[in-house]
Amino acid sequence: MKTLSDLTFTQLQEKLGEDGVSPANASLIFRMVNQGSVEIAELGKNIQRWVSEQEVLKPEVVREVASADGYTRKFVLRFTDGREIETVLMGYEGRHTACISSQVGCAMGCVFCATGKMGLLRHLTAGEIVAQVHFLNEILAKDEKAPIRNIVMMGMGEPLHNFVPLTDALEILTDPRGPGLSPARISISTVGHVPGIRKLAKLEQNYSLSISLHGASDEERGALIPINRRWPISELLGACRDYTSETGRKVFIAWTLIEGANDSDDHAHRLAKILKGMEVHVNLIPLNPTEDFDGRPPSEERTLAFLEIVRDEAEVPVTIRQRRGIDVGAGCGQLVI
Ligand code: SAH
Ligand code: SF4
Repeated sequence: MKTLSDLTFTQLQEKLGEDGVSPANASLIFRMVNQGSVEIAELGKNIQRWVSEQEVLKPEVVREVASADGYTRKFVLRFTDGREIETVLMGYEGRHTACISSQVGCAMGCVFCATGKMGLLRHLTAGEIVAQVHFLNEILAKDEKAPIRNIVMMGMGEPLHNFVPLTDALEILTDPRGPGLSPARISISTVGHVPGIRKLAKLEQNYSLSISLHGASDEERGALIPINRRWPISELLGACRDYTSETGRKVFIAWTLIEGANDSDDHAHRLAKILKGMEVHVNLIPLNPTEDFDGRPPSEERTLAFLEIVRDEAEVPVTIRQRRGIDVGAGCGQLVI
């Protein structure tokens, strides 16, 4: 059964109608659940009774770890069925970004990723995605810090493999009656789920999209990302071009650099060739260590040489993603239960 945390504003209005409660109460209830700005006592007696029969998700905190520099905090959260996920709070100068999970585990099996090694245990519901953000905002409020402004869907799971709960959750999070986040500040990272990218392009809200590419030929990419067989590079880049023309947003290309596998000058030349003419921004991620993958990040020198080739030949911006929380297993690809 859906909880109050799962419902977009429209779905809440519909549910109230079905249950014989005036949908005019939707705004107060939605704000109570998603903003914490309304107390239950402010609602009429009938509405209080209806609300008390509903559930609002509050995950249990099982564990918390903070990186040595204090900027990254990772939380293990447990849901009602006992399943657990990790969610990460990253502090930057004057703001916080939330790295949110979309699934318990992941079905995509990328060889360098600890979450992939778990397999898919289950999808998260919209409410479970939203609840991670509310939870982090409560933590920030206790420390008298400003609420989350940026979200990256880069935690556990492949967000576009869980499309409806993901987009319902993001609709709740961007609703001005809720946390009111800007869609431009929500980044969805995908392994390259082409049908999901195409559906995303059709939405009213235009989210920021990041593609995990990591290989410039189907053979090389397929060795790291098995799902490339289903959605090869040409189809994937075609979907990215269409995303830009339909939404007006440039696409981000993530490239996890693995020493000896995809970090040579030759790889950089080939990446530049396939990206030339596209409206993209490349993000290089030096590989983070995970238990089952025997790979290493390249040296800083190699990373910079790679960056310069791609930047100069593709004529697109290229940046190196700041590595955060690696010491506590909170970095990209390190989340695992
Ligand atoms: N499933 C989505 C989002 C979660 S992973 C996706 O794959 O895009 C977030 C990012 O971390 C992806 O770009 C992924 O390729 C990258 N990643 C996975 N394992 C990594 C590792 N060990 N080191 C560095 N980046 C990694
Ligand atoms: Fe899943 Fe992303 Fe990890 Fe691949 S990198 S296994 S898609 S979470």
